[in-house]
Amino acid sequence: MLNVSEIRKDFPILNRKVNGKPLIYFDNAATSQTPQQVIDVIVDYYSNYNANIHRGVHSLSQEATDAYEQARLKIQKHFNAEHSYEVIFTSGTTHGINLVANGFSSLLKKGDEIVVSALEHHSNIVPWQMLCERTGAILKVIPMNENGELMLSEFDSLLNKNTKLVFVNHISNALGTINPIESIIEKAHKVGAAVLVDGAQSCPHIKPDVQKLDVDFYVCSAHKMCGPTGVGMLYGKEEWLKKLPPYQGGGEMIAEVTFEKTTYADLPHKFEAGTPNICGGIAFGAALDYMNRIGFNVIAEYEHELLEYATKQLLQIESLKIYGTAKNKTSVISFNVGTIHPYDIGTILDKMGIAVRTGHHCAQPIMDYYKIPGTVRASFMFYNTKEEIDTFISALKKAIMMLS
Ligand code: PLP
Repeated sequence: MLNVSEIRKDFPILNRKVNGKPLIYFDNAATSQTPQQVIDVIVDYYSNYNANIHRGVHSLSQEATDAYEQARLKIQKHFNAEHSYEVIFTSGTTHGINLVANGFSSLLKKGDEIVVSALEHHSNIVPWQMLCERTGAILKVIPMNENGELMLSEFDSLLNKNTKLVFVNHISNALGTINPIESIIEKAHKVGAAVLVDGAQSCPHIKPDVQKLDVDFYVCSAHKMCGPTGVGMLYGKEEWLKKLPPYQGGGEMIAEVTFEKTTYADLPHKFEAGTPNICGGIAFGAALDYMNRIGFNVIAEYEHELLEYATKQLLQIESLKIYGTAKNKTSVISFNVGTIHPYDIGTILDKMGIAVRTGHHCAQPIMDYYKIPGTVRASFMFYNTKEEIDTFISALKKAIMMLS
């Protein structure tokens, strides 16, 4: 059982007021809040052992290096990667995807095919379009249905011997749909295609086992899972990471440099040019510790309760339509009310202290499918409560009255 009132004490920001009202934070799919335990780790780093890593002989540098590499081990354990060098620190999901897309520039040729899904965030569309422009590869799309689910039978017909890569998110940020990545990975592998899963939205709710999934690449951002912004991770199978060329050149990623020829460092450093976000990496590890202490099964169960509770109440509001009604979904609700613009609802809710996201959620193709400019999106984490949902529902009703 989750003791939510105890958990809420860990999040200082939840005590603040916005526009004179207690903050209700329902924009978790954009970024989650940070517990004191993680904030303390950040303060401790800058107060006590801030130094550059990997190349210092002095004590501070050693301490910072140890803590950073310890965080890599925590990430390895959390995602069950076989080797710690298969974990690459990135600045976030977008960086991880671009790193892989850039690497495949030298592995693809004209006529090769790449498959993405209709449910992707722009981060998992644009880098592949750029890759197609560079290589002459062709981009194909797994279509979605009205419920916001991928049409897997169509996926079968997109796969063939030219398919080299498949990219899909684990959970859609705009609709909350949990995609059947196990079967997508299996089918893609049968034609010899590599699979990258965008885990930006799944990692706060699910603990993925990359070996069990047999996924080739998995990416996520720490800021969606109680960690800081500007840091994330790319998991890649050793065989793929060895095949891909480095993304950026610079310090840290080299073995030897001469003006005639440079050789690259071994994994993971080959992909970690320059001074990384050291404090961010260490805090990412602390965020994983925090969430694992609570337990991902307990988190998922409680968030599902919040999802059902809020969905039931929202559906009672006249002319409110929820987009994304997949059976298998996480605690994200995207909706519109009649012809009211989502931005207007979001602005009035903010006046009442409630943070929701409005707009296309960086997923314009999904909005195009539904022929809408955007939605209001409420997304819940384990520190949210049913009482907050009650307040949100009555605030929403007031907003609708004002705008009708
Ligand atoms: N992919 C999905 C599904 C997301 O929800 C997001 C962020 O909202 C991203 C990618 C991009 O993440 P970041 O901005 O942390 O790189």
